[in-house]
Amino acid sequence: MPLMKPLTEQEIRAAFVNCTKGEAKRLSVPRDLAERPWCDLDFFGWRDPQAPDRAYLAAELDGRPVALALRCPSAASWQMRRSMCSMCLTTHTGGVSLMVAAKAGKAGQQGNSVGAYICSDLACPLYVRGRKDAGVGARLHESLTLEEKIQRTVVNLARFIAKVTA
Ligand SMILES: [Zn+2]
Repeated sequence: MPLMKPLTEQEIRAAFVNCTKGEAKRLSVPRDLAERPWCDLDFFGWRDPQAPDRAYLAAELDGRPVALALRCPSAASWQMRRSMCSMCLTTHTGGVSLMVAAKAGKAGQQGNSVGAYICSDLACPLYVRGRKDAGVGARLHESLTLEEKIQRTVVNLARFIAKVTA
């Protein structure tokens, strides 16, 4: 089972693949990193409290930290319907956002981006583990084990990161 090792602020800032070094230096990283439940995280995601349209996530791919800067275009009314997170497959009412990542490198500079529907609070690992409740009917009844669900989330995330860095 993939286990994420705790990341420091410095490691996270150095891991961004789809924004400039200056942006990575300035963007808001939570101060309470040491208190986060790393052993229950397949990736660490957070919203920018100063900029509601920005979100970030950091993961470990092949033993190396990778972080993405994401934009969340303001919620449209249809987003208040029930929708499913493409990472963890949790269904929320109004709790899933379209998050758009500029592609890494030249492609991103030319304006190319990749979008995915992701839990608005980026707490997918906690929903998968039942540590956070998204309400009645949030999870499909599945015969998968917890480990298989975690693995699926990790694969979905790795695919998304691969599209960003492709
Ligand atoms: Zn999710």
